[in-house]
Amino acid sequence: MLDKTISKVLFIDLTRRSFWIEKREELFEKYLGGAGVAIHLLSEECPRGSKPLERENVIVFAVGPLVNMFPMASKTVAMFKSPLTGTLGESHAGGRSAVAIRSAGYGAIVIRGASIKPVYIAIHGDKVNFRDAATYWGMRSTHGVGRIIRENEGGSGVRTIMRIGGAGERLVSYATVVTETYRHFGRLGLGAVFGSKKLKALVVSGKKTFPVVNKTEYRKLYKEIYDKEVKSPLLSKYHELGTASNILVLNELGGLPTKNLKSTNFEGSEEISGELLAEKFLGRRTACAHCPVACIHLAALREPYEDEPYFYKTTWVSYDYEPLYSLGSMLGIPTTQGVLKLINEVELLGLDAMSTGVVLAWATEAMEKGLISTKETLDITFSWGDHKAYLKGIWNIMVQPNEFYAHLAKGVEAAALKYGGLDFALAFGGNEVPGYHTGPAAIINHLTGARHSHLDSGGYSMDQKALKKKAEMQFTPEKIAENLFEEEAWRQILSSLVVCFFARGVYTADVVLNALKTVGYNFTETELKDMGSEVLKLKQKFKLREGFKPENLRIPKRALETTTPHGQIDEEMISEAVKAYFKKVQE
Ligand code: SF4
Repeated sequence: MLDKTISKVLFIDLTRRSFWIEKREELFEKYLGGAGVAIHLLSEECPRGSKPLERENVIVFAVGPLVNMFPMASKTVAMFKSPLTGTLGESHAGGRSAVAIRSAGYGAIVIRGASIKPVYIAIHGDKVNFRDAATYWGMRSTHGVGRIIRENEGGSGVRTIMRIGGAGERLVSYATVVTETYRHFGRLGLGAVFGSKKLKALVVSGKKTFPVVNKTEYRKLYKEIYDKEVKSPLLSKYHELGTASNILVLNELGGLPTKNLKSTNFEGSEEISGELLAEKFLGRRTACAHCPVACIHLAALREPYEDEPYFYKTTWVSYDYEPLYSLGSMLGIPTTQGVLKLINEVELLGLDAMSTGVVLAWATEAMEKGLISTKETLDITFSWGDHKAYLKGIWNIMVQPNEFYAHLAKGVEAAALKYGGLDFALAFGGNEVPGYHTGPAAIINHLTGARHSHLDSGGYSMDQKALKKKAEMQFTPEKIAENLFEEEAWRQILSSLVVCFFARGVYTADVVLNALKTVGYNFTETELKDMGSEVLKLKQKFKLREGFKPENLRIPKRALETTTPHGQIDEEMISEAVKAYFKKVQE
């Protein structure tokens, strides 16, 4: 017996201020939810050739049948057309978002059209309200707007508040949507799509409960999954130091992008390491709803008031590996306080930390090379390690006071196309590079992954495994392409179930099949894997439909010049692997 509430899709039209519900059982029965359902809804709803920041773009949020039922099925998948890449936008966030959407009785929410006046949408179960957001528009802090909406809306407990800050309002191509306080739809510019629709926030709450097929089996399996999550070393690293533990590991390995990837060893790595943060700054940990791991680490940043000695302002800053790399080593920031201040600023304004760091790193090198001067930067001298200059730069990216900052707000490739320096503009497929210069598999992953994200197919992890087992492992272009495709296809199943990727070692094929049985699905392993490949192919098909051309993929010269732990990367080898990957997509 399949719980039918998962197949309810709530459609909201912002232009007409109307809403309706459609039952899409055929979609949820075959594709489960999350990425699988979202790519279908996006392909149906978003007209071919739509402009990302025009009203024809749509936003799809989708969750899956294990949400509220099993721990770490905690993510919401958002799909839209990306203002950064012009093709597929896909971003995942946790917080309470998935639990709230499911508890409100929906498997997916589709937002169409655009409002003329600022608005926020409040969904409380069956009720959908369009609330005037004129007084919130112009509030630059994502924390501030969240705090006020929290006071005004009911449904606390199982409620999510997704909202944008100044960057989303001003259509920065890599603006985020912040959910709860420390989780984000971070990559590919969902915040700008919200801003273009004059949508300041989306609030969702609900109280629905869900049936299970066989209670005894369900309890047994729940305990098995829960125990693995809390007791096994598979996940303890995420709780203890969190992903910030990667800083020293990658630095040691020679894979930590530093100063716009001029190097992969950062002399200040100790200062921004997970170990030092845990020892001196960690104040508490928190978790997404229904997750016993709690990987979210909050640093207490204490700053003295200038005129009152012994009085301190304490700011909670959520840190993990990616912002520590992009706003730390990538900018050569040698102090913990400096990097925490930068992370806090992008969090408040609602900017993607990775894109912002990469854009500023390019600007610093462009300044060194004389491609830009203080005329463009409005008297700011960007230089490695100077966090105060970068704080001003971040503010200007949000405000866009001149043409230069307006280009920075469109992403590193747009800026380099205008001012030069494409060789050191570190984006793949239009998306700014993540923090893993580990070898060929990482680079092929950045190029081929449907989102151009390291999480698409985990190439960085394949590089590191290959280093350990070099003798036994085939590391040819074809083999890498095949492995990346398989991994990415499997991850489509996890993101259709909206399981956090950190739990990928727990949710093996057997566990997924058994968990699905308890909520009324009978899949075989082959059917499940076929579905994963199909979803991946559909995502790539959507990109091709919207103008993506694999043959036009650009490998930034810097990524080939700077040595990885596997040595210098051969361009021809990468091209062969990219061809092999896209051949698999066509099969
Ligand atoms: S491990 Fe972290 S990101 Fe994943 S569900 Fe738990 S708290 Fe959220």
